[in-house]
Amino acid sequence: DTLTAVSVPACFDYALRLYQARLSSAGVEIVRHWPAQETWVRADLVRLEQVLVNLIGNALQAMAETPSPRLVLGIEPRGSEVHITVADNGPGIADEHLNRVFEPFFTTKSTGSGLGLGLSISSRIIDDMGGRLEASNQAGGGARFLITLPTSGDSV
Ligand code: ADP
Ligand code: MG
Repeated sequence: DTLTAVSVPACFDYALRLYQARLSSAGVEIVRHWPAQETWVRADLVRLEQVLVNLIGNALQAMAETPSPRLVLGIEPRGSEVHITVADNGPGIADEHLNRVFEPFFTTKSTGSGLGLGLSISSRIIDDMGGRLEASNQAGGGARFLITLPTSGDSV
């Protein structure tokens, strides 16, 4: 795999386009918490898109019963790293499951609707690119996934 300079907003845009129909039919409000200027990470474009597609897909499923579903997408440069977040206002992750969601085949979804592989593969992908993927619950409710990747200039 070749790591190059990848535009994080462009990756989010790809994932949002993919889910456009579902997001709008579910009435999901999308909040973009990111800087006006482009933010670049050192990554593999297609793999980072795949991870964001996984995280947004999980968020959509989690918010299926949420009255006013809201997806908050964040990009925050932090020195030599960039924090990329996907947060929802669904039911969140049960405390006893927080450290299990990255295990292969761990799923709380009924048979057939989830294989339980998305997060384990996503975590592996981010690790391979020299980053981290972490899960948490937000104080106000809902789950939040944080990807940390090394920053990149736009000329790599
Ligand atoms: P799957 O989606 O097939 O169940 P994943 O690996 O993508 O597998 O996720 C594993 C589990 O993590 C899910 O079954 C669910 O219990 C939990 N999970 C993932 N994302 C969220 C989220 N946004 N909100 C609540 N729970 C989540
Ligand atoms: Mg999934």
